[in-house]
Amino acid sequence: MTLFTPPYFRIKKLAALVLLACGSLAAAAQEITCSTPPTPADLIPSEPAIAPPLICSQTYNVRVNIHFMQTADGTGNFDQFNDGHPDNPDPGVTGYDYAEALVWAANGQMDINPPLTVAPGSSLTPLPKRIRLLLNGVYFHRNDALRNYDDLMNPSAYIIDGHNTINVFITEVPLDNQGYPLVGPRKGGVAKQVSYCGMTGNSNLWTCIVSPWTGWVAPVRRQAWEYASVLNHEVGHLLGLEHTWYGASGCADAPANANCWNLNEPPVDRTGVPRCDAAAKVSNNMMDYNAQQKSLSPCQLNKLYRNLEGCLANFVHSCSNCMPALIRYSLPHPKVRTTTNIVLDGRASFAEQWFKMEVDRVDSQNQIIAGTHFEVSHWRAMAVENLSSQYPFLAGNRYRIRVTGAASCGGPVAEQIDYTSIGTGF
Ligand SMILES: [Zn+2]
Repeated sequence: MTLFTPPYFRIKKLAALVLLACGSLAAAAQEITCSTPPTPADLIPSEPAIAPPLICSQTYNVRVNIHFMQTADGTGNFDQFNDGHPDNPDPGVTGYDYAEALVWAANGQMDINPPLTVAPGSSLTPLPKRIRLLLNGVYFHRNDALRNYDDLMNPSAYIIDGHNTINVFITEVPLDNQGYPLVGPRKGGVAKQVSYCGMTGNSNLWTCIVSPWTGWVAPVRRQAWEYASVLNHEVGHLLGLEHTWYGASGCADAPANANCWNLNEPPVDRTGVPRCDAAAKVSNNMMDYNAQQKSLSPCQLNKLYRNLEGCLANFVHSCSNCMPALIRYSLPHPKVRTTTNIVLDGRASFAEQWFKMEVDRVDSQNQIIAGTHFEVSHWRAMAVENLSSQYPFLAGNRYRIRVTGAASCGGPVAEQIDYTSIGTGF
């Protein structure tokens, strides 16, 4: 029932609920709801009149993990191999591909900050939004209960690196007995909390995003970018921002507003009074529910930056306008191998525009044996790399594998090192 209740009917009800939840798309009206509970006004810190200067003058690169929640048999979401379509799975769009597309799209929306439409923010010159998401890992889980979204779900048992990385769970609507979504896509999510420095619990930040896969397999395919504003909205909560429409954002330049989806949408409020009949009433704030969700006020940005230099500093990988690369590969076999077939699955790497694979034979103390070095580099993203087709791994030996990579804009070199033995006796 509540699945398709338009948000403007849900508002009062949600205000009364102590739910840690956020968002759903009403199928007919394309409206995003968010049921993150309002923080009591007396707990919202006001901005200090004189604040110390910020340390980071470039971009805060904030780590996120993406988790795809599948059914117990691995269906009903993107997976490692394809898009999970029930009848016609597309190997060209894996969960790795979708996660990257979603994060890049979210960052694309962070690249812009259109002028606010609601006064007094509308009189201010927009400031750059100096926050980007850095995809730290992509994970796949099989759990029927935690695949199907509901407002009270708590997938925190699957959090990885929760003190340093925001964990984003891709959750879906239930399936019918053919493996198709039982209802249309919702668009929204659940944010665990709004973070304030000085309060406890500013770790293990997580959010659920609802129905990217359901939208993907829908007759009218929804692309990853259509969920970008939802992801940014939820991350906005986790990094310290309230909704603005009900007037408790703590930011005078992002005041209470009618929370209109668009001009004349909805046309009237519940008593029949025109509600969204002027452009100045239609917020484009990222923290309201509207068709834009791309703008943040100077005060909102300042709140985010203060948190990212305060209690949430662990979540910041780096302060840099060059998106740093991350190298993430796995050896899809046990550490002690009985085969010389060594394949590196590097699809969870992020933002790398070149990478280099190095192999050295090592002794049992992991000391490199001279004369055994091999390396190969490529100007492209890391994929599934068959290393054994390029290096003659021999049974009965132990090897060091090192992969480095970076973005072409000059960011730091990322690396991952593994040791692997082939055969037994090591
Ligand atoms: Zn929200």
